[in-house]
Amino acid sequence: MELKRYGHYIDGQETLPSGGQHLPTEDPYTGQTWAYVARGTAVDVGTAVAAAKSAFHGPWGKMRPSERGRLLRRFADLLIANADRIAEIEQRDNGKLAAEVVSQTRYVGDYFHYYAGLADKIQSAVIPTDKQGVFAYTVHEAKGVVGIITPWNSPLTLTSWKLAPALAAGCTAVIKPSEFTSASMIEVAKLFAEAGFPAGVVNVVTGLGAEVGEALVTHPDVAHIGFTGGEVGWRIYELAAKSRKTVTLELGGKSPNIVFDDADLDQAVKGVVSGIFAATGQSCQAGSRLLVQDTIHDAFVQKLIDFASAAKMGDPSKMDTQIGPIATRPQFDKVMSYIALGLEEGATLAMGGKARPDLGPQFVEPTIFTGVRNDMRVAQEEIFGPVLCVIPFKDEDEALAIGNDVRFGLAAGVWTQGLKRAMKMSAGIRAGTVYVNNYRATSFTSPFGGFKDSGIGRESGPDAIKEYLETKTVWLSSDLDVPNPFIRR
Ligand code: NAD
Repeated sequence: MELKRYGHYIDGQETLPSGGQHLPTEDPYTGQTWAYVARGTAVDVGTAVAAAKSAFHGPWGKMRPSERGRLLRRFADLLIANADRIAEIEQRDNGKLAAEVVSQTRYVGDYFHYYAGLADKIQSAVIPTDKQGVFAYTVHEAKGVVGIITPWNSPLTLTSWKLAPALAAGCTAVIKPSEFTSASMIEVAKLFAEAGFPAGVVNVVTGLGAEVGEALVTHPDVAHIGFTGGEVGWRIYELAAKSRKTVTLELGGKSPNIVFDDADLDQAVKGVVSGIFAATGQSCQAGSRLLVQDTIHDAFVQKLIDFASAAKMGDPSKMDTQIGPIATRPQFDKVMSYIALGLEEGATLAMGGKARPDLGPQFVEPTIFTGVRNDMRVAQEEIFGPVLCVIPFKDEDEALAIGNDVRFGLAAGVWTQGLKRAMKMSAGIRAGTVYVNNYRATSFTSPFGGFKDSGIGRESGPDAIKEYLETKTVWLSSDLDVPNPFIRR
């Protein structure tokens, strides 16, 4: 059977790649190619940016904010109506569990509804100036064309974190999804046309980071880059600075999940397991360093092993599967090399640690290392897989010192029943999100982003829209008698 070949989506239609080339996209469960996606070039990026620029200066830019909100609501409804079909494509591309990807896709619809509601609620201010006959006010104007670059782990969710506020702000967009997971975005782009969006407001150019991503980051007509991904984010920051763009960067993490002996340990076990093994550990906020108070270390680790070893691994399309494959072959190799490194560094393998070729080419057992020192590379570097490093601590101060002794600052978990302790820990941790007695909670209403090497800027919540707006101050004078500039008053 001939496999499907996706094009780009530019100026309201699916478009062939200018270079005539496609890239295979694989099903991580079987390791087989299931479709091809267009391999874009700088020429395709140029065409898409021109379409986005013309929509920005044309119908989209002239549209009333309430009308933009209405279109966003229509798109959100269409996405929710098509959620199962889109989720199936996304699941095929990145091997996420069906149970997770269906609810995530519906949630993306809710996310657009939230920003649709904000489109006509962007408030300005009249500013007291202490000057007679003159007053100043602000207006917030859309930045223009924005570039959106996303990874493979939650393609649609992470795109919507940027696209929904950008569109609500009045920007137009060119999206570059991960080369491993591009198909779902092409299908979603078609829904924008169905919802009645003018051509050119949302464009998608697929292909490689070095080819399409860099062309987008360096394009002079792109005003802002919204990026989620790994270390390459810092290269994007430098390239964006050279062409005077602003950026939002959501990068990696090595988040501590800290369990005290006064915690509800049954709840903590569930939180720690979901923190590291949900999404097969391929989640930016994964609680990949477990800090356990030394008084409960052995008992808690045993409880963890008992709970995690019952997880069902296998076909991600089955609703009862709990742990699926690693999404890409390079990521599978990376996870296996970190497991080997942990052993070399002297950590003890308390659970898992092996590949499972009997289940598929990219399965890794949920893995727990004990006896980890915080200066080991497995404790400092993001693995982005189902590998948990357990580190004991004595008291609150030591937990804070270990928790913060890492270059990332995306998230942290604290498990305790003491309010004073919870407040001390959440104040002391240098991270963009602190979960107290839960882990991985998320909502479109709440800001998300990182301290330190975990990024720049915040997504979600009402303020995310500001990433896509410029503020203009207008000084308005009612006094037509302009003062003589050479006379001091
Ligand atoms: P990645 O950084 O390799 O790729 C992300 C995107 O950047 C892809 O679309 C890729 O093609 C593109 N890209 C690569 N090189 C580029 C270049 N030179 N110029 C422009 N674009 C380029 O990340 P990944 O492997 O796809 O995803 C995993 C990473 O994403 C992890 O580090 C993870 O922590 C991070 N992540 C962060 C968050 C967050 O919200 N903080 C969420 C999910 C994933």
